[in-house]
Amino acid sequence: MHDNACPNCGSSDVVPRTVSDRFRAADSRGRTFEVALHLQMWTCGACKFCWQGPEAEVAKEVAYQNALSERSPTRSAA
Ligand SMILES: [Zn+2]
Repeated sequence: MHDNACPNCGSSDVVPRTVSDRFRAADSRGRTFEVALHLQMWTCGACKFCWQGPEAEVAKEVAYQNALSERSPTRSAA
């Protein structure tokens, strides 16, 4: 799947790589917590530019939801 092009130089010589990342998020009570996850990033073989694709946003959302459900046991019904 290489329908991805480098946003820096436009080359299609891009390689996916997985990195560890973490970010801070807040739950519905406004308490912040840290979410750790693995993200897919892309690296351009031509100019070495490195960026996150839309799948990284999806991965963040999934990790955030997982962390939320781990923090709040089943009794936190909506
Ligand atoms: Zn490039």
